[in-house]
Amino acid sequence: MRATILFALAWILAGPGGVGAQQPVEVERLTDNLQLIRPSALPRTVMLALTGSDGALVVDFENPDLETFRADDAVAASIRDALERAGAWPVRYLINTHWHPDHVGGNERLGADALIVAQAETRRLLSIRQTPWWLPQGIGPMPAAGLPAVTFDDRMTLHLNGEVIELLNFGPAHTEGDAVVWFRNAGYAHVGDLFHGFENLAPGDDMEGLARTYAALLETLPTGTRLVSGHGPIEDLSQLERQHRMLVATLAWMKAELEAGATLERLQEQPLPAPWNEEFTGSDGMRKQWLGAIHRSLEERSPSDEEQLLALHRRSMDAHLESDVDKLLAAEGADAVVGSRGEISRPSIEERRALFGDYFGVTHFEVYRDMVPPAVKVSKDGSLGWVIVQVEASGVQDGASGALHEIKFQSNWIELYEKRDGEWLRVGNVSNFAPF
Ligand SMILES: [Zn+2]
Repeated sequence: MRATILFALAWILAGPGGVGAQQPVEVERLTDNLQLIRPSALPRTVMLALTGSDGALVVDFENPDLETFRADDAVAASIRDALERAGAWPVRYLINTHWHPDHVGGNERLGADALIVAQAETRRLLSIRQTPWWLPQGIGPMPAAGLPAVTFDDRMTLHLNGEVIELLNFGPAHTEGDAVVWFRNAGYAHVGDLFHGFENLAPGDDMEGLARTYAALLETLPTGTRLVSGHGPIEDLSQLERQHRMLVATLAWMKAELEAGATLERLQEQPLPAPWNEEFTGSDGMRKQWLGAIHRSLEERSPSDEEQLLALHRRSMDAHLESDVDKLLAAEGADAVVGSRGEISRPSIEERRALFGDYFGVTHFEVYRDMVPPAVKVSKDGSLGWVIVQVEASGVQDGASGALHEIKFQSNWIELYEKRDGEWLRVGNVSNFAPF
């Protein structure tokens, strides 16, 4: 990495850089037929080129302009020159690791002659106009000529040039549609922007997804696999493993701190949780940016079905403490079945409203809480869910004579939920609550 930085610095000092200028592009042989192409000007998108009788396969293509999907003529010529030196021109197969503009600069130019392959979500995102938070002026859609012609969902295998190339996706992480390009025989995997080395923290749209992707990669890739990152050095799996542990620890730390009322700004002023406060010696700016990405991802992430069901359960618990009938019945299905007090009934919403109105009118709970964390289950197809709880309650009730008497009970019940039009509705409640 140091050599590359020095090389790039020397070039910047020697002449103009960026858009519109020819740039030196380094070609490094990794194996007999796999070469690494490293442009020297920002964004320094690292490419891989696999050569052989089946035709050249290339991973990613530099584009220095973040506002267009197309590398300008000078940059494209520099890269073409490097690919020619590598024996990888013309390009027959082009793989996009993800949709970000600095990785798809060659799509439109090469699309007529090369087969472009990407994860399905990458094609979808390229084919619409997008306004990500870091590019509020918007970008896209990419002209049809540059759209990937072949897409995959979670895994695809290519057999070319004596190599077995596995394309892998483990769900949203750096983007909604990342592809890891694993050259099995060579023992190299291009990980796009999922990982940039331990000291170059990689941000993503879904940081919990990024942690899951790291775990899946560590399980999938054999020991000894070398990781080629989109903008950083070549690393080994031990560095990914270290980064995975730091990300998991930081996610847990931030979640707990946010729940306790901390703000992102305050957390950005603090060191990382131990032992990572000592282990991470990268720049302060990078650490802050990374914490910002984790925060954004935690805030924007839509809650899982399990979390939604748990929130509905908590709301019905609060409704008892607040004697709030509307709150209690807000997620109640009109055709809900109730099994309680030795009966199975289907009271109408009006009947339930009247019943709980009377009940809350005379009952005041001081305690209404889960004795143990509820168990939440969701059916495999996501259409049914149930919450199994053990609750204890105590309070006072107005007697007929006007005297208050204490009430105290424990009850075990199952709330049944059905998802209709994307919303969870409570369609049943079965409890062991019985008069005593
Ligand atoms: Zn990216």
